Amino acid sequence: MTTPKPPTPMLSAQDVRKSFGHQEILRGIDLTVEQGEVMCLLGPSGSGKSTFLRCVNHLERLDGGQLYVDGEPVGYRRTGDELRELSPREVAARRAHIGMVFQRFHLFPHMTVLENIIEAPRQVLGRSKEAACAQARVLLDRVGLADKADAYPAHLSGGQQQRIAIARSLAMEPKLMLFDEPTSALDPELVGEVLSVMRDLAGSGMTMVVVTHEIGFAKEVADQVVFMDDGVVVESGTPEEVLARPRHERTKAFLGKVL
Ligand code: ADP
Ligand code: MG
Repeated sequence: MTTPKPPTPMLSAQDVRKSFGHQEILRGIDLTVEQGEVMCLLGPSGSGKSTFLRCVNHLERLDGGQLYVDGEPVGYRRTGDELRELSPREVAARRAHIGMVFQRFHLFPHMTVLENIIEAPRQVLGRSKEAACAQARVLLDRVGLADKADAYPAHLSGGQQQRIAIARSLAMEPKLMLFDEPTSALDPELVGEVLSVMRDLAGSGMTMVVVTHEIGFAKEVADQVVFMDDGVVVESGTPEEVLARPRHERTKAFLGKVL
């Protein structure tokens, strides 16, 4: 009998390095996110969290190290033993499998909610209007906004717009979702509704990397918490380990400020 191969991690970073000019912003990031796992990435402003997410999505090019999404090297294709750089078209095709939700929602202001959600599935995946609309309505229901299909973004609260942005990402049926401080731009009373959608998504088995300062969310939802500072992973572990019993002074100092 052969033992089954362990599943490929959804995300694997090995010694990831990125510089802007002479400044090295990511100084050797190592981390792994298994399929279905939720990783919360914490760290002070300027520590390189957004840059790391942008590398995962190939919006930035690495200067060193390796990054794999679902076993595929980001930005490259394996042909036999060789790595070949992807064409812009291939990069776009890969990126379509990764959802990204930002602090600012970036909805198209001239389109209704429904039009916002069906745009990429229609243009990128070639879905029919009927199929895309049917799926969009299921997603709207899932984020609790079934009645907003025909509204324009400007008429929605920030929390509603962010839930639409999440639904729009999900319409592409991503295998990995990246969140970059998805609640940081929201009024405090609107944060909960967005976190609740994200909690449901995590419960459904989605693999997620969430940059957040919402320690309560990380404690409750994360399988793994990673604390980054100054371009390196300072410590990582379960929420219990990192949030309740941090080992490093820098982690303790950071938690002391955000808690
Ligand atoms: P975080 O998301 O943790 O706040 P960032 O990844 O946004 O940190 O930024 C880390 C550092 O990299 C900051 O000092 C920032 O000014 C710098 N940086 C980010 N993007 C660029 C860029 N395109 N060009 C030059 N410097 C950048
Ligand atoms: Mg950032």
